Amino acid sequence: MTETIEPHGGQLVDLLDRDAERAVDEAAQLPKVALGRREQADYEMLATGAMSPLAGFMVEKDYRAVLDEMRLASGLVWSIPITLSVNDEGVKRIGGADAVALTVDDRPVGTLDVEEVYRRDREVEARAVFQTTDRKHPGVAALERSGDWVLGGRVRAFGLPRHDTFAEHRRTPAETRAAFRERGWRRVVGFQTRNPVHRAHEYIQKCALEIVDGLLLHPLVGETKEDDVPADVRMRCYTVLLDGYYPKDRVLLSVFPAAMRYAGPKEALFHALVRKNYGCTHFIVGRDHAGVGTFYGTFDAQKIFERFDPEDLGITPLMFEHAFWCHRCEGMATPKICPHRDEDRLILSGTKVREMLRNGERPPPESSRPEVADVLIRAMSDRD
Ligand SMILES: [Zn+2]
Repeated sequence: MTETIEPHGGQLVDLLDRDAERAVDEAAQLPKVALGRREQADYEMLATGAMSPLAGFMVEKDYRAVLDEMRLASGLVWSIPITLSVNDEGVKRIGGADAVALTVDDRPVGTLDVEEVYRRDREVEARAVFQTTDRKHPGVAALERSGDWVLGGRVRAFGLPRHDTFAEHRRTPAETRAAFRERGWRRVVGFQTRNPVHRAHEYIQKCALEIVDGLLLHPLVGETKEDDVPADVRMRCYTVLLDGYYPKDRVLLSVFPAAMRYAGPKEALFHALVRKNYGCTHFIVGRDHAGVGTFYGTFDAQKIFERFDPEDLGITPLMFEHAFWCHRCEGMATPKICPHRDEDRLILSGTKVREMLRNGERPPPESSRPEVADVLIRAMSDRD
């Protein structure tokens, strides 16, 4: 059976060097560069092919092309720079070496062939990626903390960062592709989330599932803001929701190792392109995808897709409005299909839902499934 969709750029990258022992010995001789938490996530995605066609951290011509045109130097669409930072002291320590060892917790996991060392253009990068230079933006703040210099070059991986969590839900792009093949899915919709799934998102996922064969529920488990719901709590929410309300043979729950950047539209595009590598043919883009605060317009993340030819993207974005329970429709709805007034609709703000949960109160079942609410109530009372 053929694949659901070609990877971005045509070929799934695999940077894992199977001759690990030799590679580890070689790495021991090289200057070391410690990967930060975000870089560990990027490294893992590079190594497993989730970032195909990238085979390493970006060299300057790709970095510039991404910032200026949302494309790699090859012309392929790409919206987020994937960079490895070092500070002045790091550059001195590397001292012109051809290769460095990349480490996680002092353990080498791979090497980088140093093709280029170039200076990061913080202001241009912040404006291009986040559309602001305001340090209150978590992505801009992270950029400010990063080193002044960037190492670009090919990665050779002989290990991945170790994870103690979600082992049964960790799948590389090759593995999700194999899982889709096994299930006979030809058309698969990907859903990115960093939140528990409430009725509104359940409705959107199921609307999408009506027109394809399978759903990849792909929650992001890399670094997020402190006030986001922790990944282990979210995973419990997804499990009880899927057990109770989704047909088992239509959904694959798998974790997405990326870190959040909160780059709104640019990150929505990035999220779609990398899901193509995982084998998704369709990708759900909701309102305020990957947004934070009021930095982006509600539908900016949907509009950015219109700037590209569908063939350049490959994956098909599915745009959704916000969903709610309507008492008069007697069902879930969106402004697209429901003619009623706000008074007829159950609309609870995220703040209100959190407040109810914190008080040990289940939100109405039309807003959150009781099983999901109970997981969140328990998590909040454990934390206090
Ligand atoms: Zn209605």
